[in-house]
Amino acid sequence: MKAPAKSSGSSSPAVSTPAPSAASDPGRKPGEREGFDFFSLLAEHEHEQVSAYYDPSTGYRGIIAIHSTVLGPALGGTRFWNYQSDRDALIDALRLARGMTYKAAVAGLNLGGGKGVIIGDNRTTRREALFRAHGRHVESLKGRYITAEDVGTSTADMEYIKAETNHVTGLIGRSGDPSPVTAFGVYRGIKACVRYRSGSDSLSGKAVALQGCGSVGYHLAKLLHAEGASITCTDIDPQRVKRVVEDAAAKAVAPDAIYDVRASIFAPCALGAVINDDTLQRLQVEIVAGAANNQLAEDRHGDLLERRGITYAPDYVINGGGLINVNAELHGWAPERARSKAGEIYDTLLRVFEIAREEGCPSYRAADRLAEQRIAAIAKVRRNFV
Ligand code: NAD
Repeated sequence: MKAPAKSSGSSSPAVSTPAPSAASDPGRKPGEREGFDFFSLLAEHEHEQVSAYYDPSTGYRGIIAIHSTVLGPALGGTRFWNYQSDRDALIDALRLARGMTYKAAVAGLNLGGGKGVIIGDNRTTRREALFRAHGRHVESLKGRYITAEDVGTSTADMEYIKAETNHVTGLIGRSGDPSPVTAFGVYRGIKACVRYRSGSDSLSGKAVALQGCGSVGYHLAKLLHAEGASITCTDIDPQRVKRVVEDAAAKAVAPDAIYDVRASIFAPCALGAVINDDTLQRLQVEIVAGAANNQLAEDRHGDLLERRGITYAPDYVINGGGLINVNAELHGWAPERARSKAGEIYDTLLRVFEIAREEGCPSYRAADRLAEQRIAAIAKVRRNFV
């Protein structure tokens, strides 16, 4: 039994006071306005709850944003980052939590969306007390939020959190590296895009331009190669390129040249914002489908892809395998079940394209509609007391 944590968070869907604000401005007394309208931000991002917790003994300053628990407990990693301001930290938490709601909804998982942020230098070596303070913060939400790794945190940090709460995933020796499952989902997603365009989902003879030969990119390259696709790849790390060249018979190009490769598919598996004003006009592909998060620099780039006749697999739909892997850990699924669930990304994407056609909207908007439809349907089912 864990000791109850002291937190400004509430276990009901109410909003707690943003404790860190005073800490970021020593001249301001706790409770004084920081020059931004807290509740307007929550309303704008449509959140259920935000909890902030300050622990003076460790210097812990954390925010947990719970966007939606309609489908289940809000899951999302904890990001450890030296934000410029408390406002930036809050906005990041709100934006990322909302994204998690949509990702879980389209993946067909019984999870809501949430995100944790810890404000500070993520290179600190004094981690145990800090992450245990975060664990107590998570525990105070009584299971409404489940955390995991994200930028600036590691599996070892999750073990510290685990000492204070059971609402944590991504532990050492549990579900392990999610990249093979993510890559399999992306591979199935690419096949769905090809089927949508040509009626057949065979990748034999298809040319793929692969950006990023890291964990996901490598596994994806092997799957594509096994099906007879030809790969042109790039990475800023020559060792990673070498592995894909050797194991997937790929051809290598310089990092910036990947946007000019004439191919059927461009698979971004490295960075965000790679579909932007500069790259859009250079792309000579029919399909953009890859693992990277936030591929569109701005929403309007999704409209522009559409206008150019390029089929775009919305990133949070096609890269849902990572979340499916976390869900597998939560529910004790066998690896085969996680892989099979990631395989369903194929049908989900076809449904997204169908909605896009029916509603005359670009695919990234159709994906949002699909998520919203599922959330609304389940909210109705759960409305009555039975
Ligand atoms: P990774 O760090 O293992 O690989 C990323 C690769 O991109 C690295 O090899 C890096 O050198 C390369 N890279 C960085 N900048 C580059 C550039 N300018 N040009 C070319 N290559 C560049 O990460 P990963 O786990 O393979 O994830 C890849 C992407 O997919 C990330 O955006 C990640 O957020 C996203 N994603 C990953 C998972 C997962 O399960 N790992 C799940 C969902 C989404």
